[in-house]
Amino acid sequence: MANAPLVSAPQCSKSQSSTVDASRFPIVAAREDGQTSVVTIGDVPFGAGSVPVIAGPCAVESQALIAEGAGLVASLGAAVLRGGAFKPRTSPYSFQGLGMEGLQMMRRAADDAGLPIVTEVLSPELVEAMEPLVDAFQIGARNMHNFPLLEAVGQSEKPVLLKRHFGATITEWILAAEYIADQGNDAIILCERGIRSFGDETRFTFDLAGALWAKSQVRLPVVVDPSHAIGVPELLGAAAAGAVAAGVDGVMVEVHPDRENARCDGAQALNGEQFEALMARVAGAARAVERTIYAG
Ligand code: PEP
Ligand code: MN
Repeated sequence: MANAPLVSAPQCSKSQSSTVDASRFPIVAAREDGQTSVVTIGDVPFGAGSVPVIAGPCAVESQALIAEGAGLVASLGAAVLRGGAFKPRTSPYSFQGLGMEGLQMMRRAADDAGLPIVTEVLSPELVEAMEPLVDAFQIGARNMHNFPLLEAVGQSEKPVLLKRHFGATITEWILAAEYIADQGNDAIILCERGIRSFGDETRFTFDLAGALWAKSQVRLPVVVDPSHAIGVPELLGAAAAGAVAAGVDGVMVEVHPDRENARCDGAQALNGEQFEALMARVAGAARAVERTIYAG
């Protein structure tokens, strides 16, 4: 007769849970009713049900190119224009962006195309000067732990798209959101953009599970950026569709009208045809789970 074991088997790993511990995230923790708080960029709501797509080039390169890019993504259904005027580049010798002049170009292009803009801010000193020209500030992955910058956008009136650092835990990412919210600005959208793991076949590792875990913990909308996470244009439609079917609150992708000559992240950008195909694919995925893509 087999004896019952006297001791239970040792735990191989700590147990994971999606139970909300609101004491860790006093401002941004998930609401008891599970509802997402709506954050609007311009007049585009994130977290309201229908799913907005943010699209545009990595960087603003000229008035003509940002105008062409804005017109292209608007005509194919993007709700918000992205693009960097201040670029955080790994190498100091890479194109650093056109600065305030680039931001003015982007504002003009977006107004002509009828889109609001999200663009990266690199330092606390720039927040005040940029604020009148932007509809939302982006905090880039590399600045997720720049606490003075988080506090500066926390004192602004504009919403903040907060990217996850590629070496940050999800808890650290949510605590970065608390830094912003603690200054009075809780209009924050979290953006998963890939984390470092051991392979280099994709640019980073697209952590959809991490985005979903974050969503289970916070009331903030959570969007995904498969362009930086994956880096392979041909895979972005499937990844974006999967994320939309899984319940994320938005998608951000890089689109460039002339990606062979792009000064930044050209290899990962979608051309117009690929962006059109991605939009059709995310719309199909949304329909399959009774959601819609935001269409203005
Ligand atoms: C970007 O969005 O162009 C960018 C620099 O992204 P990340 O901060 O995620 O690298
Ligand atoms: Mn980029």
